[in-house]
Amino acid sequence: MDKNNDVSYVAGLIRGTEKAMFTSFKEANNSKPEPIEEKLKEQIPIIGQTLLNIFKPRKVLLYSGGMDSWLLSELENPDVKLYVDMNTKYSKEEISRLPQDVKVIKLDLGDWERDDKIIPLRNMFLIGLASYYGEEIYLGATAGDRVLDKSFTFGNKMTDLLTYLYGEQHWTSKRDINVNLESKKLTKTQLLQKYLKNGGDITKAFYSTFSCYNPIDGKECWACKPCFRKFVAFYLNFFDFPDEICITVAKYIEKEIIPQIQSGTYDRTLDEQEDILTVYNNIKAKGLV
Ligand SMILES: [Zn+2]
Repeated sequence: MDKNNDVSYVAGLIRGTEKAMFTSFKEANNSKPEPIEEKLKEQIPIIGQTLLNIFKPRKVLLYSGGMDSWLLSELENPDVKLYVDMNTKYSKEEISRLPQDVKVIKLDLGDWERDDKIIPLRNMFLIGLASYYGEEIYLGATAGDRVLDKSFTFGNKMTDLLTYLYGEQHWTSKRDINVNLESKKLTKTQLLQKYLKNGGDITKAFYSTFSCYNPIDGKECWACKPCFRKFVAFYLNFFDFPDEICITVAKYIEKEIIPQIQSGTYDRTLDEQEDILTVYNNIKAKGLV
């Protein structure tokens, strides 16, 4: 199409539009006015509510099935629960236990999983993915978590970075992202306590959560880091454990954790250290170990 044709084509369009507008204006003048204001008045509360829902930040929870993310899902009622399948050694076990309403997406980071199960930058990737689903992003973290990609500084930096990247530009209107790490102000024990104070059920919490590095026949081993931390939180909230589990955990604490606490290298919060020692001394006082 050359330039002249282009101009006449556009002019034709304008003339057509003018004609259509003129016709509908005449028709509108000839017909009875519609009580449009009345109709709008009726619709405004509904429109207002719809707009509020559209612009309300959507809550996305990064869900692993472990106790932190499960408790947060109960306390915060997120719009989206997102599980990222990173193809780690324990992801199959986790996926098999996910509730129906959890959305599963894949990001294969398995090649970068270290022997200690740490994947460097893990939460940076996960939060980036979560921003596709909403603006208020919850990361299950509690006071004892030591990795820097669960720290308040990291949360603030990701909030800044994502809000910058979702600034108004040719492909998007502005989105304000917030990485929510409020749960990090509490220990696991305190987070469970908060859930229980809100009317939660400890048995439901116990059986709905699973996070174990070395499951035995699909059951928790009680001798790995996530198992022992779950035990401490539930034990201190008066969950009734069979003696065998208490013994397994106490032996794990004695061998793996107490030497670190004694040498000052166990750098979780003092609250959590105190919780661990209370549990250990309590089991010992019962004569189980
Ligand atoms: Zn375990």
